[in-house]
Amino acid sequence: MSDIIVAVDGPAGSGKSSVSREAARRLDFGYLDTGAAYRALAWHCLDEGVDLDDATAVAAHVADFDYATGLNPDRYFVRVGGEDITTDIREPRVSAAVSAVARVPEVRRALTAMFRELAAEHPSAGVIIEGRDITTVVAPEAAVRVLLTASPEARIARRSAELSAVSTEATAEQLASRDAQDSRVVDFMNAAEGVTTLDSTELDFEQTVQSLIDIVRSRTP
Ligand code: C5P
Repeated sequence: MSDIIVAVDGPAGSGKSSVSREAARRLDFGYLDTGAAYRALAWHCLDEGVDLDDATAVAAHVADFDYATGLNPDRYFVRVGGEDITTDIREPRVSAAVSAVARVPEVRRALTAMFRELAAEHPSAGVIIEGRDITTVVAPEAAVRVLLTASPEARIARRSAELSAVSTEATAEQLASRDAQDSRVVDFMNAAEGVTTLDSTELDFEQTVQSLIDIVRSRTP
């Protein structure tokens, strides 16, 4: 892996993607959004008409998954089979489908191996890897491990601001349903031993980025 790995986990709407990306930019680190790979695989399965309740069919699609992403925080992209799907993977239909894909053990094994390879190959001094099981499964030996949390109200408010076309009630329902499904597979609501909790409920974006950078600086040379 890159010299310094910063593992960041947290629930939907905790701000971990935007905070991790900005912190990586300022630290001159790479940024790896692991949720994007699960989303891209869900998008690919939807595109191919795969029945997402059929774990065997989903697992078959991870074997030939032609995924590419940019770890440079200023040149972020997501591609499958050469097609740019950076914005498509944020569509509500993908958010609704992604947990079904993420619960398949073969999918988790294959993507975990891919994340480790991507982080190892990246030429920067460090990489911030962000997701649900980074502190516990993907990079449990990381120099810095953080659980970024926020109250359900704060998370709903942030997600609603991003999805202005969707009602707050619908956003709240989608977040709660995705968290409930995801937490059956990995525990990202409680910090594992040695993991620092960063609660952003009362912090704005700038303060959260700065807090994450402070944690990284305090743990690394
Ligand atoms: O972080 P984001 O909301 O984009 O993640 C999308 C989905 O990918 C999550 O809801 C979860 O099902 C899955 N995921 C995962 N493990 C990770 C990252 C994401 O299961 N490390």
